[in-house]
This record gives sequence, structure tokens and C-alpha cells, in this order.
Amino acid sequence: MKADPASQRRLLGLQQIDTAAARLERRVQTLPLHETIASLAARRSGAADDVTAAETRRSDAEAALAKAEDSVKAVRERLTRDQQRVESGQMDAKALASMVDEVDHLKGRVGVLEDAELAAMEALEQAEAAVVAAAARARDVEQGLRTAVGEREAAVAAAKTEMAGLRGRRQAAVGDLPGELVTLYDRLRGRYSGVGVGEFQGNRCTACGLEATAADRARYDGAPADEVLRCAECERILVRPAS
Ligand SMILES: [Zn+2]
Repeated sequence: MKADPASQRRLLGLQQIDTAAARLERRVQTLPLHETIASLAARRSGAADDVTAAETRRSDAEAALAKAEDSVKAVRERLTRDQQRVESGQMDAKALASMVDEVDHLKGRVGVLEDAELAAMEALEQAEAAVVAAAARARDVEQGLRTAVGEREAAVAAAKTEMAGLRGRRQAAVGDLPGELVTLYDRLRGRYSGVGVGEFQGNRCTACGLEATAADRARYDGAPADEVLRCAECERILVRPAS
């Protein structure tokens, strides 16, 4: 293939643009924010589970308190009824003695049940505090997630702008080059990990870094300036320095 030496050298500029674009793409794909967001999303679902569990414990505590309150109320009502009967003076001695015993027993029972009611109130307070704390943690995670997503969107938008700039530069660079030279370059670039051209510098190809043998060196030196050389080692286009 033939191409004027200036066009060959411009391929090196095109390669710089393509390398920058590939690097930019990799940078977007490997943004640390991707991991941050994935980890926060996992924590969000855990935090939501914690809130649900805390709310369930609060419901249980509410039910336990209601039950304790009902128990106290029932025993108190019975105690009041019994006391009224004792005070009515309309019972015979035997029934009265038995009723007084029951009143004593019921007083003790009310005390026990009131202690239980108090404990249920405290348990409910703790359960309510746990719901508030779990909800606050869930909000923190949600906030962190939103921030990270916003940062990622900004980073991706900035990369898109940068990429658009590189695409524009590439279009301009390609426009200045012979089509078949670009086609060859693109084919080699696709085949050899994004690099399609190297420069011959200090007896080495900058694309593969390998030194030319004496025979290859002689072949490169003897080739006409407009001949598109290929590196004997890596097969990429080999551009000679401007003379
Ligand atoms: Zn090479």
C-alpha cells in the first residue's frame, strides 16, 4: 500500500485519539462509584428489612401492652365489685370472710399486673425507639445512594462530553486521511488490542516495543517513503520518523 509520508504520520495522531477514547471508556466502566452504588443498594434492602422487623416488634409490643392493660382493667373491675359487696353489709359471715380473702388476693394480683403493664410500656418505648433508629439508618443509606448515583451521573455526563470531543477530533483526523489507509489501520486496531500503528524510533516499533533485526532495518530503510510499512514483529503499520 502507498500513502504519502505526511498521511502516514497523521495516523499516529489518530491513534492518540483512539487510545484516549479507549482509556475514557475504561475509566467510565471501572468508576469506583459503580461498586459504591452496588454496596449501598444492597445495604438499602437490608436497612428496609430492619425497618420492617422493627415495626413488627413495635406492633407486637403494642399488642402486649393492650393485653396487659385489659388484664389490669378486668382485675380492677372485679376488685371494685367485690369491695362494694363487702361494704354493702348484705353478706353472711362465711361468704364475707371468703370475699375478704378474694379482695386481698385481687389486690396482690393487681400489683403484679401493674408491674407487667409497666414493663410492657417500657418494652413499647424501646420498640418505638428502635423503629426511629432503623428508619434513620435507612434514610442515611438512601441519601448516600442518591448522592452516589448523582455523582455517577455527573461523571458519566462529563465522560460523554469528552467522548463527543474525541469523536469530533477523530472525524476531522480521518477526513484528512486516505480511506484505505484508515481501513487498514482500523482493521489492525481491532485485531491488536486497540493499537494499529507504531512509530519506528531508536530501532524499535513503539507499538510492540521490539527491536528490528538488521535485515528488517535494512528493508525499512530501503523502502520508498510513500510505502506503508508493516512491523515485522507485530504486523502493525510502522511509521518512519519525518526526515
Ligand atoms: Zn511492532
